[in-house]
Amino acid sequence: MLSRKQIPGVVPNQQCDTYAWFSQRAWVEIDLEALSYNVKQLVQFLSPRTQLMAVVKADAYGHGAVTVAQIAIQSGASCLGVATVPEAIQLREGRIQAPILILGATHTLEQIHAIAQWKLQPTLCSPKQALVFSDTLESMNYDSPLPVHIKLDTGMSRLGTNWRQAGEFVQLVQRLPHLDIASIYSHLATADDPDTTVMEEQHKRFEDAIAQIKAMGIQVPCLHLANSAAALTDSSLHYDMVRVGLAVYGLYPAPHLQNAIDLKPVLELKARVTQVKTIAAGTGVSYGHQFIAPRELRLAVVGIGYADGVPRSLSNKMQALIRGQRVSQIGTITMDQLMLDVSAIPNIQEGEVVTLLGEQGKEQISADDWAKQLNTISWEILCGFKHRLPRVAVM
Ligand SMILES: *Cc1c(COP(=O)(O)O)cnc(C)c1O
Repeated sequence: MLSRKQIPGVVPNQQCDTYAWFSQRAWVEIDLEALSYNVKQLVQFLSPRTQLMAVVKADAYGHGAVTVAQIAIQSGASCLGVATVPEAIQLREGRIQAPILILGATHTLEQIHAIAQWKLQPTLCSPKQALVFSDTLESMNYDSPLPVHIKLDTGMSRLGTNWRQAGEFVQLVQRLPHLDIASIYSHLATADDPDTTVMEEQHKRFEDAIAQIKAMGIQVPCLHLANSAAALTDSSLHYDMVRVGLAVYGLYPAPHLQNAIDLKPVLELKARVTQVKTIAAGTGVSYGHQFIAPRELRLAVVGIGYADGVPRSLSNKMQALIRGQRVSQIGTITMDQLMLDVSAIPNIQEGEVVTLLGEQGKEQISADDWAKQLNTISWEILCGFKHRLPRVAVM
């Protein structure tokens, strides 16, 4: 029997055997060994001078932020990246003590108070924002300097000050009271593209910014530029730290990067068969009768639907694994349930486990497969699983 432990913070912590899991209609399984393996692979891949930031925003790409953060830090990551203040507070409430960088922008009094109170580290994107932080900390009588991270825009056209003003911006922040520059960073727009032209231009601009800062006599602290794709592409992009999300979860940012390092997918999506029936040729299945049985067939109803994060647009396109075999999903995917054609497998029983994403025997369905079918990226697939699905840690 498998030993399973539910992830704390998402559902009550308890040891369960496979029988007890009969009560669950659908769940997300998180393979903690695979997670730890990926982090260790990444740490080994980097030179000793380069630290690993595990990016755990969006509830660790749907994997459960507190547990992922714990394992990532235990396995060699130095710090954590999140998008928002509440995401960071969730980690602190989960007793995570590692440094946490908030990658998104923060401006308000409430956000700055929370950052100071919970010992979080903000990204500073503009001189105006830096002044707001400094003034607010002053008015709070904040005593120790707050570590802040300077964000430069080198071509992503998202957050950050234009790299041409890097020197001035860093000098301003350096002179402001209460702020301590912990790092200077930028983000790449095309790191997953096999054509590296744009990335090289951004790399040059980042180098230019560093030169400006050095020319002002300012000691450059930690520098970082790379996401997963850049980390796997070229060690000259690693600097003092890399900010890795997707690869931590065992997926490759692009097909051409699959040979860079061995990674194991961490997440599996599973659900149970809730009813099995035989339908006659010509019978319509599900809303709109978008599927009509071409022959008599054996149909399995499965307890998972689009409200759990199985995209409805995969209706009549996706496959699932049961008893190590691939079967086709039929009819429109509904809010809480979907149907499979299990005619090829004799004697399917209610309660049997269906793998929608993951591995059974020699068969595998990955988030990349879904992403391809849906014309999107695996990042969006992983983030799409709703909180109705318990996250179950498997060791
Ligand atoms: C999300 C994010 C990352 C991680 O990106 P991956 O492609 O998942 O590795 C790195 N840096 C910033 C600024 C991000 O927002």
